[in-house]
Amino acid sequence: MQHEDVGGDSARCNFVESLVEFTTFRERTIVSVLYRCAGPGCEQTMIKEDGWWMMWASFDGRRIPSLTLSPWNAQLAAEEAAMPVCGERCAQLLQSHFMGNLQQNQTERERKG
Ligand SMILES: [Zn+2]
Repeated sequence: MQHEDVGGDSARCNFVESLVEFTTFRERTIVSVLYRCAGPGCEQTMIKEDGWWMMWASFDGRRIPSLTLSPWNAQLAAEEAAMPVCGERCAQLLQSHFMGNLQQNQTERERKG
């Protein structure tokens, strides 16, 4: 999974890793999405939504990047292409990753002049 681009415009989709499972049940095909935690090194898959959070990066009108943390909401997660996180520790790791990428982008911009 690519994590480099969190400060960029294309960042929002990079974090979302979800598995789509097709189950044929009688005549119907049921599609269920299994969410996997976006925390670095975390392999948790969402079984129950309780205790899960979501995070997404966005830009405000002044092009200032920000990171939003919110309790899990499947509909909003789809709208915002949010990253599912299984708990506080993974949220902190992702926040740290986001901050690191912004600092790195800043440094690269300064170097380019
Ligand atoms: Zn996790």
